[in-house]
Amino acid sequence: MIATASPVRLEECPELALLQSYLLGRLPDDDFESVDSHVSSCDSCSAAIRHCPPELDELTSQLRRIPSETDFGDYELILRLGRGGMGHVYRARHRKLGQDFALKVIHPDLQNDPHFAARFEREIQSLGKVNSPHVVQPMYAGEWQGKSFVVMELIDVFGDN
Ligand SMILES: [Zn+2]
Repeated sequence: MIATASPVRLEECPELALLQSYLLGRLPDDDFESVDSHVSSCDSCSAAIRHCPPELDELTSQLRRIPSETDFGDYELILRLGRGGMGHVYRARHRKLGQDFALKVIHPDLQNDPHFAARFEREIQSLGKVNSPHVVQPMYAGEWQGKSFVVMELIDVFGDN
């Protein structure tokens, strides 16, 4: 059933325009989350999305991972590879090296929470202590515009969901 209600109420189906923005990755994170959780549990919305031809579907799933802000200091954020409780992981290209890395940034809402900031630091340190070919090694940890981030080797463990 197609709802015409305000897109904020995601108890109901989002309007088509909102679904399109969602597919194209043009929603701010909060909206993305609410639309995403609605779509994943709504048969008619997921059907509407599946009506896209496969090539388009592939393209839109790539598109919606393109970060709205791509500038990150020495790095350019290319694609969002994953999202977790503490932050997001991006495929990022070092501007001078021209090489791609996995760059994990602490979630902006958590940056100023000392508890989470400390947890993020510990996570980075524990990564560095595990010496295994199956565990990515952090290569650099720093801060850019007040955002803590860690740069890691880019391998497939960050692949889709
Ligand atoms: Zn729906």
